[in-house]
Amino acid sequence: MIEMKDVWKTYPNGVMAINGIDVSISKGEFVYVVGPSGAGKSTFIKLMYREEKPTKGNVVVNGFSLETIKEKKIPLFRRNLGIVFQDFRLLPTLTVYENVAFALEVIEESPANIKRIVMNVLDIVGLKNKARFLPHELSGGEQQRVAIARAIVNTPSVLIADEPTGNLDPDTSWGIMDVLEEINNRGTTVVMATHNKEIVNTIRKRVIAIEGGRIVRDQVRGGYGYER
Ligand code: ADP
Ligand code: ADP
Repeated sequence: MIEMKDVWKTYPNGVMAINGIDVSISKGEFVYVVGPSGAGKSTFIKLMYREEKPTKGNVVVNGFSLETIKEKKIPLFRRNLGIVFQDFRLLPTLTVYENVAFALEVIEESPANIKRIVMNVLDIVGLKNKARFLPHELSGGEQQRVAIARAIVNTPSVLIADEPTGNLDPDTSWGIMDVLEEINNRGTTVVMATHNKEIVNTIRKRVIAIEGGRIVRDQVRGGYGYER
């Protein structure tokens, strides 16, 4: 599903963000990526959705070899990935419904299918009754649920989340975790970078710890392992 072989990433300014990573993440796994600030977590994740290209080594995701993928194949590749950010990144002038429907309209689904699929994913994230709201009318947790709904609307095989609870209070964060676990239980692989020690230590999953651009720990049901 996700394979990295001897992957290195040096940014143009000379910062060596990822320094020789080998990793394999199988279909259906739930993986936390932890580590101190600047450890390389975001870069590791960006390499998975080809926001960044490795300086050396290859990344294979869902059978796409990102070393050789053609630019014109990238939208097709991304369609099989859902991506969620700390800062939600919703379109502010579109309703909840429209934010989620957008990704389907791009691929020219029929209106009836779009409505069925959008209402189904809004149901999964618990926001069916807020379909007509604008993002600014929602709480942070609700906005993140919309972002998650948007990320899963194309039934991706992998959901990538970079600090999805980073802007949320603890209670709201647990709700977001319920949603991510539900999505994982439906078969989607989840890769989540996080600083949330309580969540990692409570909802036990595989933990990949990164420091200095290297994997320093990879445990099946790991703990957070850092003070913060
Ligand atoms: P983390 O997500 O663990 O905080 P990052 O992957 O964001 O780590 O950053 C790893 C290192 O790469 C840091 O030293 C950071 O400053 C640097 N870095 C991140 N993005 C860029 C970039 N676009 N250009 C140059 N350096 C970067
Ligand atoms: P209701 O008839 O109770 O509004 P619907 O199933 O027709 O229930 O729609 C549920 C919600 O989905 C509505 O509140 C509406 O906000 C939203 N919705 C449905 N279709 C569209 C659309 N084409 N564009 C924007 N929002 C829509």
